[in-house]
Amino acid sequence: MKIANGKVVSIHYKLQSDTGETLDSSEGREPLAYLQGHGNIISGLENALVDKGVGDKLKVSVKPEEGYGERSDELVHSVPLSEFEDASQIQVGTRIRVETNHGEHIAVVTSIEDDVAKIDLNHPLAGETLHFDVEIMEVRDATEEELSHGHVHGPGWHHHH
Ligand code: ZN
Repeated sequence: MKIANGKVVSIHYKLQSDTGETLDSSEGREPLAYLQGHGNIISGLENALVDKGVGDKLKVSVKPEEGYGERSDELVHSVPLSEFEDASQIQVGTRIRVETNHGEHIAVVTSIEDDVAKIDLNHPLAGETLHFDVEIMEVRDATEEELSHGHVHGPGWHHHH
C-alpha cells in the first residue's frame, strides 16, 4: 500500500539540524503515526512521503518555508517584568505560555534588561533547514472516524475532544 491522502502512516525518524545536531528522534519510542494529507506533520516531510511504502527509507531535507517558517522579528516582544504574574520565575531560557490573537503559544525568554524581558514567539525550529532520516513502518487506511477528526486514533494517541 502506497502513502496517499487518507492513509495512516507510521514512521521512525531522526531529525538533524544543518550542523548535524540531532534535534529529535523516535529511537526507543513507538513510531510516529500521522494521517497523511491533513497537515499533521510539516508539509515538506508530508509531500516527500507521497507514493512511498512500508520498508522504504529516505532522507528528506526541508527548507523553512515547508517546515516551521522563517524567523520573524515581529514575533519578538518586549514585556516589562511587572506584567508577569510571578516575575521571580522569569529568567533567560524560561518557557512561558502566552495568549495571542492566534491562540496559545509557547514563548521563550531570550533576554532581560532594565526590568524588561524579551520574549520570542518564533517556533524553536523556525529558520532551520531540517534533515530527516525516515523509515516507513506501516501504512493503513484511516477509519471514517479518523478521517472526520483529521488525526490518528490508536495506542499512544491521547485524545482531546
Ligand atoms: Zn479524534
